[in-house]
Amino acid sequence: MAGILVPVPLNFFRSQTDANRLIQLRHKENQSNHELWLHRNHPTHPPRQVIFDFSDWTEKKRLIRTLHDRIFIVEDQDGYPERVTMPGNQYGTDTGKVHIVNAAEWSNLPLLQSLQVPRWPPTTPERLFTVPRNHPLPCIGCILKEHIYGDVMRSSYALTLQVGDIINHDTPNGGIVWGRVTANNQSLEAVRCNIFDNPHVIRDIPYTWLTVNPQWRNEYIERRPPPVRPTFCNCDVARWRHQQESWHKRFKLCATADKSEVYVVSRKYVRKERPMAEFLGVLKPNYDLWGQVSPATNRSDAEVNRHRIQAPMGSQGEAELCFIDSYRYGNFTRFIRHSCKPNADWHDVRYGDMRMKVLFSNRVIEEKEEVTVDFGIEWLEEKGSCDCGLNECQLKQKQKGTPTKGTPTKGTPTKGTPKKK
Ligand SMILES: [Zn+2]
Ligand SMILES: [Zn+2]
Repeated sequence: MAGILVPVPLNFFRSQTDANRLIQLRHKENQSNHELWLHRNHPTHPPRQVIFDFSDWTEKKRLIRTLHDRIFIVEDQDGYPERVTMPGNQYGTDTGKVHIVNAAEWSNLPLLQSLQVPRWPPTTPERLFTVPRNHPLPCIGCILKEHIYGDVMRSSYALTLQVGDIINHDTPNGGIVWGRVTANNQSLEAVRCNIFDNPHVIRDIPYTWLTVNPQWRNEYIERRPPPVRPTFCNCDVARWRHQQESWHKRFKLCATADKSEVYVVSRKYVRKERPMAEFLGVLKPNYDLWGQVSPATNRSDAEVNRHRIQAPMGSQGEAELCFIDSYRYGNFTRFIRHSCKPNADWHDVRYGDMRMKVLFSNRVIEEKEEVTVDFGIEWLEEKGSCDCGLNECQLKQKQKGTPTKGTPTKGTPTKGTPKKK
């Protein structure tokens, strides 16, 4: 294999020994795979001498994990770090775990009458995003608890179906079962049901079709109401932040073939409408609120807005927005790309007493599928092109449609604002 084996700057490893060890392990894994291939394809070839065993594998995992904790790495097909030249020096920076506030940027701005924050000027993110624990925003901590409850419910779901219940499932062979249960035969492990689309058809649906199988995208109509969400919860944001640190177990960064762009791929199947990750970055003032002009930048509007999300600040006002800017600093969500038909959206939520922007799946996300969000038509117009290639591409639609007269009014960028349902 040509090129540099571990193309991560050595100072990102905890020690020179770690770096050397990963190079050794990579050689060993290559050798082991090669000898195994020879032995399988040439029966006369002796069994392999070098074996990449379980302890090697765990050591590799540990070394990769120490990298994940500190920097963004793009994994190649063997799971080793790959060299990528990112535009805008984004590659190689530290992985963010909490927001950052640059106090100097805020110190000259007066406290707005409408803004309810614990202290001004803000020196920590908590000063901007703390809300009362009974705030009407949905709490991610409570939502996650409900999902655990729902998943347990689902496992016993088939057993508890009763006559008159409605089921609505995809079947393993690509069809749909939508109908009313007429009998639940527990000894045969099948539910007899009357199909709505074809009232004369009565079918026996095996339990295995009804129990949730990730492959089959089963949805079902909840018979029992979910537990009542407390109005005043004691969810601790530290728990969420701790979970978020191991994001790399669920997502990974991949590079495009020309190594010019990095994108996010889900390592696992994700159910519909699940919270996945928080958008992190530097909290920047929205100068419009203070009637000031934001400082000039040499980046294009599209480049700026690609890495920005507006987020409400203060405990009361929903209109007081600041920017979360992930251009220089953030977590893996800064690499998520645009699609006109995205599989995820940003939602304004809280975790306990902390506001946040959280990425939710808006449909099932398959294993190894790219995670995408809609950056909005304004961003596409700033950029001037869209790579989604879909027929329903927003930019194509817009260009096809009748051109609006006069200069288009350019609103404040609200990338990723969840759409109204
Ligand atoms: Zn909660
Ligand atoms: Zn498009």
